[in-house]
Amino acid sequence: MNHLANQSQAPGGLYAHRPTIHPRTVTGANRRRKNAVNLTILGLLAIVPWLRWDRGHGMPNQAVLFDFAAMRGYFLDLAIWPQEFYFLTAILIIASFGLFLVTALRGRMWCGFACPQTVWTDIFVWIENSIQGDRNARLRLERMPLSFGKAVKKGITHALWLTVSAATALSFVVFFTDAPTALTALTSGTASVTLLGFVLFFTLSTYLLAGWAREQMCFWMCPWPRIQGAMLDHHTVMVEYDRARGETRGQARIGQDMKGRGHCVDCRLCLQVCPTGIDIREGLQMECIGCGLCADACDGVMARFGLPSGLVGWKAQIPKPWFHRPRVLLYAGLMAVVIACMVVAGGRRNMLELNLLHERSPLFVTLADGSTRNDYTVKVINRERRERDLRLSLSGLDGATADQDRIRTTADDVTTFRLGIRVPARSVPGDSAALRVRLTDTETGEWTEAQTFFAGGVAR
Ligand code: SF4
Ligand code: SF4
Repeated sequence: MNHLANQSQAPGGLYAHRPTIHPRTVTGANRRRKNAVNLTILGLLAIVPWLRWDRGHGMPNQAVLFDFAAMRGYFLDLAIWPQEFYFLTAILIIASFGLFLVTALRGRMWCGFACPQTVWTDIFVWIENSIQGDRNARLRLERMPLSFGKAVKKGITHALWLTVSAATALSFVVFFTDAPTALTALTSGTASVTLLGFVLFFTLSTYLLAGWAREQMCFWMCPWPRIQGAMLDHHTVMVEYDRARGETRGQARIGQDMKGRGHCVDCRLCLQVCPTGIDIREGLQMECIGCGLCADACDGVMARFGLPSGLVGWKAQIPKPWFHRPRVLLYAGLMAVVIACMVVAGGRRNMLELNLLHERSPLFVTLADGSTRNDYTVKVINRERRERDLRLSLSGLDGATADQDRIRTTADDVTTFRLGIRVPARSVPGDSAALRVRLTDTETGEWTEAQTFFAGGVAR
């Protein structure tokens, strides 16, 4: 494997004996883009769970909350119920097609810039670099026998990794519970075992995946590198080495006449900055996450030699406008269809729903005056964040009367009650008859209706 080229031998690996990759720091356009994405993701994770949103009395006031206990997902004013899980499914489908689209256009840009594994590994390497120095210093430290200085540097690095991991875990967990309450519980020592367990689990996961597993996660555990090949073609813009221009490579001095030879000066900087330790000059490789840092490194080298940039850079083998590429149009089209379906479903969303379940045992009761009674379990789903007064009415069966005609529902909740319906003697044509139950909001006039059956024995 070519990534073995960029190595210092680790004393032992978590997954397999492997070289530790110590990427060199680099500056450039791709590095700046990565910094911007890292800061955006960290900022969102740190800020979003603490945003408040007034939903009225008795309702959670966290702007974004996945409340498993109440079985609700809250996004600002939108409350998603378990019956509306298709919204989350649609969001996942849109995200998947979005990923396909980005991959078809720009290769593994997701992996190189926005995947949490990449973002956190980048942050952990930055911490390591700040404490232990750049690549060469880290390689020297790695080879040194254990000393007080080495132990201090390593200890501080791991302590900072654990601090970032714990902060990440807390920021993630509070998307699922009230953030200020969880923080108070954790700092006052009153946190539940469940909360502590999840914070500990995500702390250790972050620490192990970003601190120790790093690129091994991309090589061996993530399925995406294996799948993404299906979205790439000759028109996809990816980080590539311009072989025609770079070869025949060879070392050179600044100021040397570069005519008649390849522009690659074989400085190996592109390899040294690579977070996965590969040599981009060997062509497209599964280990390449498309971060573009090798392009930044090479552009710096080209500038020093007075040569044009782009020996390593973003390019397509056969450039083609995106709107002439069927696969791009297909992914964009499918995304648009799912978004349109979501908008339509959101617009037709029922804020009041009625479900009726006929009691089976007994199916009906014949009363002393010859009339027939059926019982139902009624569930009223009120998605409004206010209590409602509802008027109950029946239709479809002459003379049918219910034992209650006014129902009070609680806010943002399911109200369940038992309903008895009675029909005079000989009013049911046959074994059973259709019956409609309607609930009307006495304040707004909004109504919902459900059809059921009425079983009658006396008419036979
Ligand atoms: S950084 Fe550029 S010049 Fe240096 S080895 Fe890589 S491709 Fe060649
Ligand atoms: S080869 Fe270049 S683009 Fe690919 S992972 Fe390494 S540095 Fe990033």
